[in-house]
Amino acid sequence: MTECKHNRGNAVLRNPLINRSAAFTQEEREQHGLRGLLPPAVTTMEDQVTRMRTILDRCPTSFDKFLILDSLHATDENLYFKLLIDYIDDYMPVVYTPTVGEVCQKFSHIYRHPRGAFISINDKGHVREIIENCPNEEVDVIVVTDGQRILGLGDLGINGMGIPCGKLSLYTACAGIDPAKTLPVTIDVGTNTEAYLNDPLYLGLRQERVTGEAYDELIEEFMVEARRRWPNVLIQFEDFGNNHAFDILERYREQCLCFNDDIQGTATVAVTGVYSALRVTGQKLADQKFLFMGAGEAATGIAQLIVDAMVEEGMDREEALKHCALFDSKGLVTSTRGDKLAHHKVPFAHDMPNTKSFLEAVKLLRPTGILGVSAQPNTFTPEILREMAAINERPIIFALSNPTSRAECDAETAYRETEGRALFASGSPFAPVTYEGHTFVPRQGNNSYVFPGLGLGAVFTKAKWMPTGMFLAASRELAKLVSEVDLEQGSLYPPLSAIREVSALIGTAVADYAYEHGLAGNERPENLEAAVRAFMFTPKA
Ligand code: NAD
Repeated sequence: MTECKHNRGNAVLRNPLINRSAAFTQEEREQHGLRGLLPPAVTTMEDQVTRMRTILDRCPTSFDKFLILDSLHATDENLYFKLLIDYIDDYMPVVYTPTVGEVCQKFSHIYRHPRGAFISINDKGHVREIIENCPNEEVDVIVVTDGQRILGLGDLGINGMGIPCGKLSLYTACAGIDPAKTLPVTIDVGTNTEAYLNDPLYLGLRQERVTGEAYDELIEEFMVEARRRWPNVLIQFEDFGNNHAFDILERYREQCLCFNDDIQGTATVAVTGVYSALRVTGQKLADQKFLFMGAGEAATGIAQLIVDAMVEEGMDREEALKHCALFDSKGLVTSTRGDKLAHHKVPFAHDMPNTKSFLEAVKLLRPTGILGVSAQPNTFTPEILREMAAINERPIIFALSNPTSRAECDAETAYRETEGRALFASGSPFAPVTYEGHTFVPRQGNNSYVFPGLGLGAVFTKAKWMPTGMFLAASRELAKLVSEVDLEQGSLYPPLSAIREVSALIGTAVADYAYEHGLAGNERPENLEAAVRAFMFTPKA
């Protein structure tokens, strides 16, 4: 953690990066001029954790827990991350999905501590100044959103800042990215959500969203200035609307170190789920056919990576594309539907009959898996699930939409309607389900499994850019970490409590890929895994 030489007394206690509160030793108290500013007893980290756990246990809701953790984050990052790392199962759902959805919706009403950078359309021409104002001397990872498509909740404008903040907490907790070297950024070009425009406490610009040239220029200015100050920074795009997300990714993907988590991170985790499912069924990837509920960033990102994985296994790309079909708000995406399809849907628009019924589409295509990424709750109806179970011995059912309220079906329905045969994963967590004496432990097909490790590998190697092969390397590594015991209980992912270990290994696999493919900006260390682990930030004991 960054030490600040000039900080003394209260300035130390008010600097969350170095404050350790009552855990400062006598020697440190002397050194930092803290005599009398803290209660006399020197407490241990364990005692501090116990105190915080007592407070958190008294909170009636996850949202209340978030408020407490957020305040801790603003005052004592060491303790915040210690709690997050040691009790990841308890607090990851608090600082990230599902609670982060509510946090974002209420962001303007609970805003207390400054964090990160806000770049509004009115700052055009002044972005350098904003970047220079950021207190971080070094930045390894920026997570940036424009708030247009936050989780499945839509346009939240500046309130979307909860997402970059939450994701960067996970970067540190899960993959040991130094918290002093993380920067959340929100680009504010307005919001089209009436409720926020009329909310007296709303903290963003009160205007309709700006798009087109002015929008592109602001993004370009941000990309240039961020990399001017921090040339090796990894920029993660998060929750942009799909009218911008694909274009931005296309523009910068090969130009610099960046990725879009909704498109590429989601794809990586979904492909892992598929690899795990195939271990259960014993089938080949080439024999699979997937139908997606949704045709946006997540759906086309996953479909593209599945195609890439099939191609890697020797299938012709044209043929592989036929193994994935999309269904959007207008029905099955086909080449004969008659509307002008968005660029990203075109490769998956096959010559098929048109239908507006997902059930009909399932009957027509007889997929081995259905993947829900539409943010339309309960759209995997019992009838659809029963149809999947009639077609397949072990149907793949992924209800990936977040937050929980947007899931295409819940775990219980998925297992019940398929007589316990579903290979199920969900975007948000669901409790274990007992069906006819067998207890299933569904795990989250959530990109939080992979983005921290992906970022770790990329940052460690100072990678130049992130090609598709890097994401498939991460998928394969994560799939290897799913044990036979996991599979027996229906878990397609390792336990989230193992996320630090998982991230260290994904980070190593990604770093290995970077070195092997000439993408790294530094020398490969002799013992790569040990070096990646040593690079990871751990809170002080
Ligand atoms: P998006 O806006 O790019 O795409 C949404 C898609 O859903 C669009 O193609 C839209 O046409 C389609 N749609 C809307 N109404 C529909 C309907 N009634 N029937 C069928 N399709 C319909 O959004 P996205 O980034 O693809 O995200 C979609 C969902 O996936 C969100 O809930 C998001 O939280 C979730 N997601 C989950 C993960 C994860 O890790 N589990 C990762 C990324 C996104």
